[in-house]
Amino acid sequence: MRSVIDLHLHSSASDGKLAPRDLVTHAASQGVRIMALTDHDTTSGLEEARASALEHRVDLVAGVEVSASWRGRSIHVLGLCIDPTAALLQAGLARTRALRNQRAQAIAARLTRRGLPGTDLLESAAASTEVITRTHFAHALVEHGIVPDASEAYARWLGQGRPGHVSANFCPLGEVVEWIRACGGAPVIAHPLRYQLSAGARRSLLAEFKAAGGEAIEVVTGGQSTTQVEAATGFALRAGLAASAGSDFHDPAIPWNPPGRLANLPPSLQPVWMRPGFPRGAAGIP
Ligand code: AMP
Ligand code: MN
Ligand code: MN
Ligand code: MN
Repeated sequence: MRSVIDLHLHSSASDGKLAPRDLVTHAASQGVRIMALTDHDTTSGLEEARASALEHRVDLVAGVEVSASWRGRSIHVLGLCIDPTAALLQAGLARTRALRNQRAQAIAARLTRRGLPGTDLLESAAASTEVITRTHFAHALVEHGIVPDASEAYARWLGQGRPGHVSANFCPLGEVVEWIRACGGAPVIAHPLRYQLSAGARRSLLAEFKAAGGEAIEVVTGGQSTTQVEAATGFALRAGLAASAGSDFHDPAIPWNPPGRLANLPPSLQPVWMRPGFPRGAAGIP
């Protein structure tokens, strides 16, 4: 399925493989006309992406994917159509990056306790970024020959319940929603099926998110089955939230979530891109 809109992509400003300008070039080559750059906890790639978007006649939506905490879990909240110059947002993102750095040190300490070269791994993970994610640790584990590939890094070391997993203490969900709203952005719960939540907990999450000013759920994300889209559609309808669509693209070598290959939203849903702030051309997209 070709989609001209894709509202969740990562560049090398966080844990994506491509530099912002190359990400825009790649997305444009895949037929994307409206894209959001949504790096983890930073907006530092937006300026470069903006210049490239002008060249390729792509409408760039200013975005970010913020790590938030809710009941001791990490929840990712996309901010779409944000104002990256907003002081409250930037202060919040700086705090979040500091919490990420603390978590990275805790991850390294845990890996050291298990006999791995934690200090070297942290150094590799931190070498090329101001936002240290588990993706950077996964790549460091591969580079040091500790695992054969990144998926093994999560399965063996970094995933939930594995020895290097550290539950991060990010800022509360309600605060994160406020940073995004205060600068005119739309808060969107990213990849709602990726949090291991009971049905009751998920209802509470979505109700609290909406009460705080949350606007949408990412109903269509990369690599989803039809059944998963249906499940997420049910969440949005029951919670009374609008819907978004984004690949969560990170790397051209990862085949399952390329840019611009998303299913249309089911017609029962309100697309978040009908909201003010999105490029005018978005209004006609199903
Ligand atoms: P973090 O926000 O630091 O916990 O890292 C989350 C990032 O790690 C996600 O955005 C993905 O890019 C990546 N990630 C987490 N789990 C996996 C997995 N099982 N396979 C591939 N990438 C993963
Ligand atoms: Mn990521
Ligand atoms: Mn995410
Ligand atoms: Mn993402």
